[in-house]
Amino acid sequence: MTDCLFCKIARGEIPAKKVAETDQCLAFRDIAPQAPVHVLVIPKTHYTSVNDITDWAELAAVMAMGREVARSEGIDEKGYRLVINTGKDGGQTVDHLHLHVLGGRHMKWPPG
Ligand code: 5GP
Ligand code: ZN
Repeated sequence: MTDCLFCKIARGEIPAKKVAETDQCLAFRDIAPQAPVHVLVIPKTHYTSVNDITDWAELAAVMAMGREVARSEGIDEKGYRLVINTGKDGGQTVDHLHLHVLGGRHMKWPPG
């Protein structure tokens, strides 16, 4: 998608602090971190949200990179949170599917 922020990041048209990359996915640091570790993982294919996924292998690849990032950031043993906000009530603000990898502090439940 031409005008999509995360598609532009995936194409390298907008700079981002990359953490990991494969042909399918990209991980980069969130611009407004909500925890000591806050990384976003996106599929390079544009899906607006979970509601639009047609190839579940893409979501599997995103989740696998999320776990890899948790390992490389050193938060896998202590624990972390993987979040996919979906739609308005879900708190989604960027309309390109993304997985939040959050850690480095204790997470509260339930979320706000
Ligand atoms: P959502 O609220 O849609 O689940 O998450 C969107 C996330 O994208 C937010 O945590 C926000 O801080 C992050 N974000 C928005 N714009 C940019 C940007 O230009 N660069 C980066 N790295 N993160 C962004
Ligand atoms: Zn996009």
